[in-house]
Amino acid sequence: MIKKDKSYIDDNSPILYFIATPIGNLKDITLRALELLQQADIIACEDTRNTKKLLSFYQIDKPLFSLHEHNEISAANCLIEKIKQNQRIVYVSDAGYPIISDPGQILAKICLQNNIKISIIPGASAFLMGLLGSNIDAKHFYFYGFLSPKANERIKQLKSLQSIPDTLIFYESPHRIKQTLDAIKQIFPNRQICIARELSKIHEEYIRLNTNEINQINFDELIGEMVIIVQGQTQQQEIDKAFLIDEINNCLKQDNLKDKETAKLIAGRFNLPKNYIYDLILEIKNKQN
Ligand code: SAM
Repeated sequence: MIKKDKSYIDDNSPILYFIATPIGNLKDITLRALELLQQADIIACEDTRNTKKLLSFYQIDKPLFSLHEHNEISAANCLIEKIKQNQRIVYVSDAGYPIISDPGQILAKICLQNNIKISIIPGASAFLMGLLGSNIDAKHFYFYGFLSPKANERIKQLKSLQSIPDTLIFYESPHRIKQTLDAIKQIFPNRQICIARELSKIHEEYIRLNTNEINQINFDELIGEMVIIVQGQTQQQEIDKAFLIDEINNCLKQDNLKDKETAKLIAGRFNLPKNYIYDLILEIKNKQN
């Protein structure tokens, strides 16, 4: 059944506002967001300590209610009851948009199941800011969010994105950034990449490089919050891949080398990651079998 909710028709029907909050600079919030926070009876939030900082900056003092990924269903049901009793409720996550790699999806679902409208109040977004500053094609993009924390799973996920022509966008936590960038170097050789760091904060920085240059990064200096933007697959990369496969085939036919030695030789010749060439050798051999 088709259902239409018009957020701006003031028919007194129950509604929950999902408000985007700053991702660093506390001034990045809309007037409408501040108005709704000021008018709320209860501000539901991911982490009360975090939201208190934002509210005290704007001298807003309201009762807070905690809804995070570990209590989302029970907390959402509790909020629904409060909305049904005509309490004005808004929801904010720690930064940026709720729902985007943050809690809120279940809350939104439960609201709609209970005929409570949802309205999104726009604001700062880390992945959009990162994409815009990356200097990588922003016409078509694929936002992936967080990769798996497990190394094998992460490689599998990256491989599934290898042939996508659209720009790829990832979130990553600072303590996994090295492992993730190493995996990106292996799976996406010779692509433009941008690490957009500490956006809207004092140390904001866009690091633009080629994935083949990832080993030149000083990881001790790569701290804070980061978005990773990677160029999608291009026709040129496809041609490069076909060319490399030819080179590998020639090497396999002529030289009596082990696969690992062939990988080392070709990788050295074209300044590419060894693992990438080794994977191509396996791909060639799998096709032959
Ligand atoms: N809901 C948020 C949004 O709309 O962007 C995302 C929350 S997610 C839990 C946190 C991740 O977003 C971080 O690990 C990082 O990848 C990215 N992020 C958040 N703030 C950032 C900032 N100021 N600079 C760079 N990346 C940021």
